[in-house]
Amino acid sequence: MFDIIIQNSTIIDGTGSKRFKSDIGILNGKISAIGNLKDSNANRFINATNLIVSPGFIDMHTHSDVSLLVDPGGESKAYQGVTTEVTGNCSYSTFPAGKAGPEKLQEFIGQTLVSNKTWTWNTLDDWANDLENNGISINVVPQLGQAALQVASGATEDRPASESEMKDMKYLAAEAIEQGAYSLSTGLSVAPSAYSSTAEIIELCKAISHYEGVFYVTHARVNTGNNLAPIEEAIEIGVKSNIPVQFSHLAITDRRLYGQGESMIDLFEKANDSGLDITYDMYPYTAAGAGLNQTIPLWAQAGTLDKYMSRLKDPNTRRKIREEVAEGIGGISPLWDTWKIAYINNESNKHLLGLSVEEIAKERNVEPAEAVLQLVEEEKGSVPTRVHNRVEGDVRYFMSHKLGMIGSDGRAMSTDGFYKKALPHPRYYGTHPRILGRYVREKPSVLTLEDAIYKMTGFPAQRLNLQNRGTIEIGKIADIVIFNPDEVIDKATFEEPHQYAAGIPFVLVKGIPIVDKGVHTQARPGKVLRRGQKN
Ligand SMILES: [Zn+2]
Repeated sequence: MFDIIIQNSTIIDGTGSKRFKSDIGILNGKISAIGNLKDSNANRFINATNLIVSPGFIDMHTHSDVSLLVDPGGESKAYQGVTTEVTGNCSYSTFPAGKAGPEKLQEFIGQTLVSNKTWTWNTLDDWANDLENNGISINVVPQLGQAALQVASGATEDRPASESEMKDMKYLAAEAIEQGAYSLSTGLSVAPSAYSSTAEIIELCKAISHYEGVFYVTHARVNTGNNLAPIEEAIEIGVKSNIPVQFSHLAITDRRLYGQGESMIDLFEKANDSGLDITYDMYPYTAAGAGLNQTIPLWAQAGTLDKYMSRLKDPNTRRKIREEVAEGIGGISPLWDTWKIAYINNESNKHLLGLSVEEIAKERNVEPAEAVLQLVEEEKGSVPTRVHNRVEGDVRYFMSHKLGMIGSDGRAMSTDGFYKKALPHPRYYGTHPRILGRYVREKPSVLTLEDAIYKMTGFPAQRLNLQNRGTIEIGKIADIVIFNPDEVIDKATFEEPHQYAAGIPFVLVKGIPIVDKGVHTQARPGKVLRRGQKN
């Protein structure tokens, strides 16, 4: 007697192996039988004729750290078939608060991890308990963000960290890893992470590299005018601190470097050949998500938000900042028509949502660089945008390589909650079905269905050292997605991003349907999966 039998399924098991036909029996949240179950009984039968059954998708790169408290159903991801969100990326996590305290931490990190919640957490434990007590439909894999360490220990200025700050950060890093964080993330082109030298990051990584399964994950120093240096730095950190590396959202955003992906991949391959375990994630769009702060020189943002704002107020400093913004970071002037506002907090600016910096500059009759500074001031340092800065050929190239897995860089949210007033990147709602629909099904296809599933399941599970998830095997946790390979598709667009994906009738977390016949059930079987436990 099973809880659920999935009948007549075509299984793609997440290992990259060819599909096969079978029934699946689920009992007590686990896959307990794979085979012909015609004569078995169950409380529920799901008929999967003409459907694909695969492990639930593991989204390797997300920022759902607080959005899952606001929208605990995680609908934008659940409807994509995602059953596990990896949080804490790009240097941003909700812990530890250290001696700075939660309020200070939110003042910094809450600029990026926007929500209507007050942060109260000192440690990973506090935050994870809140998530679980509040209830979550999908699982969370926590990572530790370096910027949080910097805030917690007072090291947010544009200078090397002091010896006592380093000591503090190493202690807090080890504490978070012991509480269940899988890795340390950096965001080396955003403040304050960008103020850290390679040597500082190596020192931090050395403090955690002896813990089982731990790795280093990096949003790299990409504004260098060179597409190899950021990868070389990641490799150096991995080799010198003896830690595996996950390179985040691999892409070419510098228009002078389009089409040069091969030389980048070459570095990854050579590093792997010489013994470093380095992989990457990417998402299937030619636009990025970024804050307007990424167009502003790092020195101007150093220290507290107050210091940043007072530099903008001082006429001489403002002129200097404006000149550098106009010139561009990394020696390339920004194309202001490609930077479009994604979120506005200030009531009187609501009409700017969706407009480009160029359009706003025209409306205000100022230079684009001045418009940027005004927006940053009016929005108190936080202006999320979408930037159309990539080409399709590069996206396809990075998607197809065997070292690449899928990470949306998107947040779990619902269409009718707090975030509905934002214009998020469509990747929040569409990443995984978009791969299956547009890059597998539509011709010429970039990936086989088996390879695409592997990049969303077995491969990230391997990186995360998840032993009980990521593949369809007897004894594994029943995190499962059932989709129609002829219909699965993303619906979200840049104009109308708040649209759920289609063609995915069932999503199970620990054997419990969170999407049932295409409708979110509001069940909350998700857990924070902690490193060191059997996940
Ligand atoms: Zn990032």
